[in-house]
Amino acid sequence: MSKANSTELEKIKAMMNQSTKDFDPSNYKGKVPTGQPPPGYKCYKCGQAGHYIQNCLVKTETNAIEPRFKRSTGIPNSYLTFTNDPTTPGALLTYSGQFAVPTIDKAAYEIGKKERPPFLLGEDNTPPPETKVIPQELLCLICKDLLRDAVLIPCCGNSFCDECIRNKLLETEDHECPSCHEQDVSPDRLIANRQMRRAIV
Ligand SMILES: [Zn+2]
Ligand SMILES: [Zn+2]
Ligand SMILES: [Zn+2]
Repeated sequence: MSKANSTELEKIKAMMNQSTKDFDPSNYKGKVPTGQPPPGYKCYKCGQAGHYIQNCLVKTETNAIEPRFKRSTGIPNSYLTFTNDPTTPGALLTYSGQFAVPTIDKAAYEIGKKERPPFLLGEDNTPPPETKVIPQELLCLICKDLLRDAVLIPCCGNSFCDECIRNKLLETEDHECPSCHEQDVSPDRLIANRQMRRAIV
């Protein structure tokens, strides 16, 4: 890293860029999906159907673009009540592309409480507390937690915890990638993401 006084976020971004560069494109074996994704596929970045995450036009910089919907990142599914109506008060966009209201929040709306759970602060024009924003890229797409022993999957280049993706691949007979649905992805082809691991420790 060249700049000695770069901020924490810039450091992480620089590392992210480096880890992308370190990733040998020949590992992809030309398997980066092109064209239309299968029906039911939703881009994990923006939650929209019709394109693969690799073709997503939504920037990942957390502070660059205000997302259309708040994400449910960090809230376990068991705390969410799923809804089909994105206009539901407090509706959040989940990882699977569905909308959901945090159960605790739904109850609060129902009994007319003003108090909000801490993960919903930032509405009502009050500035959010100075929390450390974890870049989306450092989160495992499976357990939605900070990556543990980060590995890259060769088919689409997404990162997961080593344990999460291994279990996921072995769980299906086709060894299907949970992200791009590429099949026959052997756990042996997972690539340790050392840059990412360093960024987290
Ligand atoms: Zn997208
Ligand atoms: Zn994980
Ligand atoms: Zn994949």
